[in-house]
Amino acid sequence: MTNDPYAWIEPSLKAIQKANWYRSVRAIDSCPGAVVEMEGRSLLNFASNDYLGLAGDDRLIAAAVKATRRWGTGSTGSRLLSGHRSIHRDLERAIADFKQTEDALVFSSGYLANLGTIAALVGKRDLIFTDRYNHSSLKNGAILSGATVREYPHCDAGELKLQLQQWRSHYRRCLILTDSVFSMDGDLCPLPHLLDLAAEFESMILIDEAHATGVLGTTGAGSPEHFGVRHRPLIQMGTLSKALGSLGGYVAGSASLIDYLRNRSASWIYTTGLSPADTAAALEAIAILQREPQRIAQLWKNVADLKTLISENLTDPDPISEQSVPKLLPSGSPILCVQLDDPALVLSVGDRLKANGILAAAVRPPTVPTSRLRMTVMATHETSHLQQLIESLVEILRSNRSPVNGTH
Ligand SMILES: *Cc1c(COP(=O)(O)O)cnc(C)c1O
Repeated sequence: MTNDPYAWIEPSLKAIQKANWYRSVRAIDSCPGAVVEMEGRSLLNFASNDYLGLAGDDRLIAAAVKATRRWGTGSTGSRLLSGHRSIHRDLERAIADFKQTEDALVFSSGYLANLGTIAALVGKRDLIFTDRYNHSSLKNGAILSGATVREYPHCDAGELKLQLQQWRSHYRRCLILTDSVFSMDGDLCPLPHLLDLAAEFESMILIDEAHATGVLGTTGAGSPEHFGVRHRPLIQMGTLSKALGSLGGYVAGSASLIDYLRNRSASWIYTTGLSPADTAAALEAIAILQREPQRIAQLWKNVADLKTLISENLTDPDPISEQSVPKLLPSGSPILCVQLDDPALVLSVGDRLKANGILAAAVRPPTVPTSRLRMTVMATHETSHLQQLIESLVEILRSNRSPVNGTH
């Protein structure tokens, strides 16, 4: 009798449950939007990446249906074999125009864009610098590349410079990796400073625009537009799945970079082309963004309104909780985090918000260094939605302070 080689899985799952790290899915039963249906109830949605409210837009749906009727449901092959359609190229041209880069390449997801791009750009003789808070896809892309990987403290350009001075000359190529909007904090990377360091130390730089595309800059072109550095050489990757309401990833940059990736990026070459529906929906989203800049303006108005509501009602130490004063973490994006130091409190606030009909993420270590309630703002939130969120939070935090009838 041999031992079951899969026997380790059950105890590992139990250990995950025991550590309170167990996760499972819950279905949303409606179109995406500021209000969604879940488990037979309507919930106000502050947990979505659909910043502009485009994922449920009739025009994106119509574009996806039309493309499906014309080209079918699947691309049937990799782009270099039978999987290329004219709309893939149309989308790549639209992204390059939007980003004001020479060219762009569309991947099947943002995650794959990072894996395939990083591994194509650097290898064993090279060096990667990565912000400690970078997204998993950047971190895993760095590992996959085989390059030497050095983490620098979050947004710390000074420390990065010291590390560049110490290590850069020992390696062939060098690549700096950073989120432009950090997904669990909502703050921005110091892009102008990083670009200066990249130039000084002959380093490439790749920014992950997942939460910046369609959000930052007056036209939504992202952080280079926001910081006024669109002419500087850099590699931009992003996703079609957040503000653009579809699915897929992209890299935008120089024509030679894109041509090189078409020839060397394994996660682009050896995977099926993006579906016609996803491609057409993303193309329509970019067109809408250009026709309706008021969407981005409305998103930022909502962000400003919610920030004001939070600072006026929540982060006052007196009325709420003596032990754990909520703090609004610095943010330059529609991702707003209220830090509450006690992980158990964050969990219970998240649960009670949900009981009140509001969806927001309770995020705890080890995902992030400090526990927080993470709220994402959408252009399609109404003022009453923001007020409802704050009223509910105030009530929950207040009742948390006063002793609850004999539950202990
Ligand atoms: C969501 C996200 C990705 C991955 O994009 P997908 O298209 O969903 O695979 C990459 N980087 C960051 C920072 C993200 O937030």
